Amino acid sequence: MSDVLEPTARAALRLNPHVAALPAYNAGLSVETARRVSGRHDIARLASNENPDGCSPRVLEALAGYDPSRYADPACTALRAALGSFLDVAPDRIVCGNGSEEMIAAISRAALEPGREVLTVAPSFGLHEIEPLATGARVRKIAMLPDFGFDLDALATAIETGPALVFLSSPWNPVGPALNEAGLTRLAEAACGRGTLFVLDEAYFEYGGGALPDALQILSDAGLPFVILRTFSKAYGLAGLRVGYAIASDAALARTIAAAKTPFNVNGAAQIAAIAALADQDWMRASVSRLEARRAALAQGLAAAGFRTAPSRTNFLFVDCGGDSAAAAEALLAEGIIVKPWRESGFERSLRVTIGSQGDGERFLDALVRWRAAR
Ligand SMILES: *Cc1c(COP(=O)(O)O)cnc(C)c1O
Repeated sequence: MSDVLEPTARAALRLNPHVAALPAYNAGLSVETARRVSGRHDIARLASNENPDGCSPRVLEALAGYDPSRYADPACTALRAALGSFLDVAPDRIVCGNGSEEMIAAISRAALEPGREVLTVAPSFGLHEIEPLATGARVRKIAMLPDFGFDLDALATAIETGPALVFLSSPWNPVGPALNEAGLTRLAEAACGRGTLFVLDEAYFEYGGGALPDALQILSDAGLPFVILRTFSKAYGLAGLRVGYAIASDAALARTIAAAKTPFNVNGAAQIAAIAALADQDWMRASVSRLEARRAALAQGLAAAGFRTAPSRTNFLFVDCGGDSAAAAEALLAEGIIVKPWRESGFERSLRVTIGSQGDGERFLDALVRWRAAR
C-alpha cells in the first residue's frame, strides 16, 4: 500500500487551514530515543516535568479493582464531587479533562472564533498558543522582563484592549515564578467588563510553597468570567493517566466548556486514580517538599557555577545556559540526559530542566558545566 496520496486526490482534499498550519507541540524525547542516541541505559528524563517519586501507593491499590470493559462516567460525577468538597466549590462549576491540556482545547473551542485575539506570554506554554491557533484565533504574546518576571504593565495594557481570551500560567511554565496577589488582582481588574475570558493555568499550584495567592478568591472577587486549570499530572504523579480539571467562574460557563470536550474524555482508571490521589494529601505534600529541597540545591549549584536561573515555584528550573540551548541539549542527550531547549525567538539560550531524582540534578549540573567548558 502506498503511504503517499496521488497528487490529484491530495489537491481535491480541503483540510481546515488553521489546523493544517499548526506548529507541532514539542513533547520531549522518549527514553528509547535517548538510549539509542547516548548508548546508555540510565536515562535522566528531565523534559516533561513528571514526578520522579511516582504516585501515592493508594492510587495503585485503588486501581486493582478497575474494570476496563465498561464505559466510565462521562460526567466524572464522583471525582467532581470529591474536588468540589476539597476546593469548596459547587461541582457544577468543575469540568474534568483528559489532562488539563484537553481543557485548554475545550476552552479554546468554547470561547474562540476565527480572527479573535488571545493574549499570552513569551516564553509561553505551547498549548496556550497551539489550541487558540487551531480555532483560527490570533495569538499575541507579551515578553517576560529581563529579570525573568511578568511584565505586569505591558500585560495590563494589552488586557485592557479586550482580547477574547487570556491564557496565563502561574506558576509560569516554562519560567517558574508566580503572580503575587497584587499582580493577579491588577490583571483580573484590567480584564473586568471587557468580555474577556481569563484563564489561569495552575498546573504547578502544589509547588507554590503554600504562599500562592488564592486565585479562586481573587478572581471571584474581581467579578469576571474565569477558568482556573489544575492537573493530577505533576505533583500527584499521574501524568500517564491523563486527568486534570477546570474550575469555572459559574455553572453556565462550565456547561459550555463541557459541551466542547469529547463525551468519554476521562477514562475510568484515571477517575479512580484521581480520587485516590486527592485523598492522599500527605503523600503529595511529602513529595512536593522533597522536590522543593532538590530544586533549591540545584538552583544553588547552578548559581555557584555561574548560570542564571529564574526563581521557581514549580518542579523545574529555567536556566540561561550561556549559549545555544539546542546545542547544549544535544550535548546533554549524548550523556543520556533529556532536557527541553527553548526555541521561541529571544529565549534560545534557555533550557528547562525538570527536578528529578537527587542524582539526576547532579548529573545535569556536571554535564552542563563540562559542555560550557568544552565550547
Ligand atoms: C503540564 C502542563 C499542563 C498539562 O497537564 P496535563 O494535565 O497533563 O494535560 C497544562 N498546563 C501547563 C502550564 C503545564 O505545564
